[in-house]
Amino acid sequence: MYIVMITPECAPAAKVGGLADVVHGLSKELAIRGNEVEVILPKYDCMRYDRISDLTKCYSDLWVPYYNRWVHCDVYLGWMDGLKCFFIEPHMDRNFFSRGVFYGHLDDGERFSFFCRAALEFMLKTQKHPDIIHCHDWQTGLVPVLLYELYQHLGMRHPRVCFTLHNVGHQGIGGEHLLREVGLNPAVLMTRERLLDDQRPGAINLLKGGIVYSNFVTTVSPRYGQEIRHTNLGMGLQRVLEVHQCKVGGVLNGVDYSVWNPEVDPQIAKRYNLGSVQNKYANKEALRNRLWLRQGMKPLISFVGRLDPQKGVDLILRAVPYCLEKGCQFVLLGSSLQGDINTAFWNLKSRFNDHPDCHLEIGYSEELAHLIYAGSDLILVPSGYEPCGLTQIIALKYGTVPVVRNTGGLADTVFDANYAHQPYHERNGFVFNDYNWQGFESALERAIGLWTHHPEYFRELMLNGMRYDYSWNHPGQDYLNIYHHIKAA
Ligand code: ADP
Repeated sequence: MYIVMITPECAPAAKVGGLADVVHGLSKELAIRGNEVEVILPKYDCMRYDRISDLTKCYSDLWVPYYNRWVHCDVYLGWMDGLKCFFIEPHMDRNFFSRGVFYGHLDDGERFSFFCRAALEFMLKTQKHPDIIHCHDWQTGLVPVLLYELYQHLGMRHPRVCFTLHNVGHQGIGGEHLLREVGLNPAVLMTRERLLDDQRPGAINLLKGGIVYSNFVTTVSPRYGQEIRHTNLGMGLQRVLEVHQCKVGGVLNGVDYSVWNPEVDPQIAKRYNLGSVQNKYANKEALRNRLWLRQGMKPLISFVGRLDPQKGVDLILRAVPYCLEKGCQFVLLGSSLQGDINTAFWNLKSRFNDHPDCHLEIGYSEELAHLIYAGSDLILVPSGYEPCGLTQIIALKYGTVPVVRNTGGLADTVFDANYAHQPYHERNGFVFNDYNWQGFESALERAIGLWTHHPEYFRELMLNGMRYDYSWNHPGQDYLNIYHHIKAA
């Protein structure tokens, strides 16, 4: 099958969060299975160019309609970890993708609407007729709309569209100019059944457009799929998801075990697997040395992730002093786009700057992340909501026991040591239900207690987690089934 991914992120060069890992891991899995896969991305100035090989200009005659004029774009071809990727570079005074960051500008809606039109125009001009176009999140919501409303009339009748919702917390809300910008007719599209936002009068919702116009919609875990249809985690999309329920399904994300696997990971101090888990402690030692933490018999607790309200930042801010009081060590790696959150963590960092058991690294480091997963005993994921969550899935593979909230993909992958319905050998972490400090504290207390007083049971929990197979093998097949299903329809 011929599959084109149109996406705002793809690891390792263009990564903000899990979406990048998913596009990369899924594409690789599909390619390994003999499918032809191509990825189309914006050519951001802030990409990790050292992770792209043989980047060369491959098409320099792309003219993309933009309001009532044309914008000239160059398209580059490069390879990321064996994946064939096209990068679109518009030449315009607004420098849509040369801003030093991936997201966070007031005109993000316009930037990515343009990207959608440019990606389709590129496919049309280079006569790409894939079986499947797979789009990701609100940034690509206009792709199926443009395909159905414009490009099929220009000859692109073949492709079917699969649209994946990685996080409905971000929907791409804007004015009708986002439609006019790309040559779509607001009078036709601004209805409740199409792109008009259900809650904000007069606004268009790009994510909703993607849901309405795609042939199939996936969520990144089955639980999140239920939550966004039936609870306010749908953030206003409950009705449209209900209307389109027969084409919505949940596929749990996988993890690329050629990158995230302590058995082969070149970025950790000592490799290990189920049979040599004692080697994990060389990584704990290395992590402590690297971050100037003292050695000793203490559990090392960590957090890796975006410091976003979604991730439970208020609970994490309380967990740091709590864990230190309980005699544990704490390592945090994260960054935020929000100034007030960054300030709160910088304040916490200066409070514990000289503490021999605490290190807060406010920033982004792929390499340090690997060592943290390998060197920690426990990892915290107290999210308010979590569409899938890769942190806990990666941690399980590294024998690092997750403490998570019972929501979304966390609920689908972590099973409580004491209370889960699963048999003992399938339990792999600690889970709390309500989003509040009491719930989180009691799960933390149980986790620290087990590490301290029952190391043999704690070790069993680690091994149980390492035995799970959250590779792309199963989800890869699930996506292929979906592609075949919509192709045949
Ligand atoms: P989300 O997509 O909401 O950010 P996920 O748990 O799905 O969350 O994916 C997060 C991914 O990004 C993981 O691979 C995690 O290791 C990585 N990550 C997040 N923040 C950082 C950071 N500051 N440094 C390194 N890696 C990070």
